[in-house]
Amino acid sequence: MDKAGRILIVDDEPQNIKVLAQLLRPNYQVMAAKSGEVALTAARGPQAPDLILLDILMPEMDGYAVCRRLKEDTGTMHIPVIFLSALDAPDEEARGFELGAVDYIKKPFHPVIVSARIKTHMQLKRKSDLLEIMAAVDGLTEIANRRSFDLAIEKEIRRAERNRTILSLILIDIDFFKKYNDHYGHATGDDCLRKIAGVLKKSVRRPFDLAARYGGEEFAVILPETDGSGALYVAESIQQAVAEAKIPHAASGICPYVSVSMGVMSTKITASILPEHLIRQADTALYRAKQQGRNQICCQERNKDRKNGKIPPNSDCGR
Ligand code: GH3
Ligand code: MG
Ligand code: MG
Repeated sequence: MDKAGRILIVDDEPQNIKVLAQLLRPNYQVMAAKSGEVALTAARGPQAPDLILLDILMPEMDGYAVCRRLKEDTGTMHIPVIFLSALDAPDEEARGFELGAVDYIKKPFHPVIVSARIKTHMQLKRKSDLLEIMAAVDGLTEIANRRSFDLAIEKEIRRAERNRTILSLILIDIDFFKKYNDHYGHATGDDCLRKIAGVLKKSVRRPFDLAARYGGEEFAVILPETDGSGALYVAESIQQAVAEAKIPHAASGICPYVSVSMGVMSTKITASILPEHLIRQADTALYRAKQQGRNQICCQERNKDRKNGKIPPNSDCGR
């Protein structure tokens, strides 16, 4: 049977860890830490726990301090903490809850009660993780949704401003998609959206890059720390991958397969820039790509446009 999540036991007394681990191991993956520092490192690591059982009385850093640090860190604040302590004064228990713990279990504990409470909190954690995913992911295409895009672009603008780096944005719109739906039906249209989303996911590889469904048949790609030529490179690789996908589009009028038009913008971020400024510039470029015949990439600087992967004649822009 698959184990239902990972639990980190934090206790300076090895015997306590042993007893709890024996109790929990049949149902959960169990990790242990004998000090607050080790616990904080484990909680921030790639194998982050779903729940932390935290002793209070420990040398060096006590459980309250560990809990405070966990709740201050955006990377660990969502991990539920249960205090397990021999301190049984109501004030101690209250302090644990004030620091953000979800439960407080007094030692010596009854194994059945500990198991039941942990089971409840693990179920709640699983549900809240699922809700978080559902709130961030587009149900049809399974890439980031508009809400994630809005949050990410705000965050990346702030980061680019702090680090004085260039931020790029690509807006992508499927060509003649209304005709596609009319010709093949809405369900095949949905399949096509999934395929294009799959292409975007593969084309966008760096850890902070984000491909999102912006709405309807429009997608957006955020490229932090990427300049104009880098963004153009990504846009061209998207155009090529869409072409290679060869999704038939008998009603397109410009191409036997599904094609996309793209608007690319790149800018050095200054304090006054808002997400809508970036979106407007990318959208203006996208509009131009549609006007000029679709299946092409336009940039906010006209001389960098790409038609079918080639620099159009008359362009004075080399790469
Ligand atoms: P253009 O080349 O100018 O972009 O033309 P277009 O037909 O792609 O653009 P338009 O905005 O006129 O039509 C967009 C179409 O996208 C209309 C709408 O029915 C379709 N669409 C939007 N969301 C979905 C969806 O979730 N599923 C499907 N199947 N179609 C969708
Ligand atoms: Mg559209
Ligand atoms: Mg369209």
